[in-house]
Amino acid sequence: MAEKIIMLARARGASAPPTCAPLFAPAPAAHVPAAPEAPTGVLGDALGRPLHDLRISVTDRCNFRCVYCMPKAVFDKDYAYLPHAALLSFEEITRIARIAVAHGVGKLRLTGGEPLLRKNLEKLVGMLAALRTPDGRAPDLTLTTNGALLAKKAQSLRDAGLNRVTVSLDALDDAVFKRMNDVDFAVADVLDGIDAAHRAGLGPIKVNMVVKGGSNDGQILPMARHFKGGPYILRFIEYMDVGASNGWNMAQVVPSIEVARRIGAELALEPVAANYSGETAARWRYTDGGGEIGLISSVTQAFCRHCTRARLSTEGKLYTCLFATGGHDLRALLRAGRSDAEISGAIAHLWRARADRYSETRGLGPGGPGRGADKVEMSYIGG
Ligand code: SF4
Repeated sequence: MAEKIIMLARARGASAPPTCAPLFAPAPAAHVPAAPEAPTGVLGDALGRPLHDLRISVTDRCNFRCVYCMPKAVFDKDYAYLPHAALLSFEEITRIARIAVAHGVGKLRLTGGEPLLRKNLEKLVGMLAALRTPDGRAPDLTLTTNGALLAKKAQSLRDAGLNRVTVSLDALDDAVFKRMNDVDFAVADVLDGIDAAHRAGLGPIKVNMVVKGGSNDGQILPMARHFKGGPYILRFIEYMDVGASNGWNMAQVVPSIEVARRIGAELALEPVAANYSGETAARWRYTDGGGEIGLISSVTQAFCRHCTRARLSTEGKLYTCLFATGGHDLRALLRAGRSDAEISGAIAHLWRARADRYSETRGLGPGGPGRGADKVEMSYIGG
């Protein structure tokens, strides 16, 4: 059966709205080596980076239409989402996650689309929470959400075994936020969700703000003021050229150093050492003891050399980079009755060959890697 992948054509940096051209192009089934191998708990890629994180997209749908992720011009009422039968079942997701954990994955993150739109997600959380690493530990189980349904779901997710949540919030001002989410969703409802998650024990909670120059960069200081001194860690993320539908251009990137400068002009900041080698966010703390913020410099200070993340799409393709133009179909192996050892061998084969470092090579121009108009969309694979 032909299956849809999300590909969108655009003129990069052009002012014309993106055009939507969904294509039906099956990805190749992941290669299964002739001699399947048992996982050893450590798997290095071609650049020596271990497989440590697996981000699992559980739906390609979202209830927001954020202008940088699922712009209405593309994701409108006629947009063809994946049919239910194409999605990995909870059992299939758990099987892949179990094999990945045996290969050394210690952190599982559920994403979307908006993951809380997937029906009975608590059941999947419970299944993943029961997994164990080779040394007997439960993997760190987290979820990224826009917060819209969090107030309703926080306690049941916690009860099912979820450890933490990260919540996206791009502004504190209702008018700006509504312009960003493009569905008239109010800030107060997201803040309620964050507080509910805190009460449920889903912490430490990180709040992610994507800073898009000319759209919400005026919200940097209001966000910093609001979250300073509280229990949440606010992180500012540089606007990235993920996918092909958001018309990204470099002029819209507000460098992290500028974010630090703007905040520091009013609320004194100093850098703090990373919690661990390769931490994505650079840590800064308020000198008056008011807590800390994180700066994720995906564009201006790429961190590919420490990138240990693989991504599993909603319908079972494994991607080795957020900016990949193609995935490797694991669902085909699952549904063809392949054994765990064969799927394990396929994942090992893929990861060992991985040499992705898109963000480090972004400046190389049109001939650089991953520069087609067919980069995978963030709403399809998670951030
Ligand atoms: S560009 Fe790819 S390799 Fe680099 S940090 Fe992002 S996901 Fe990892």
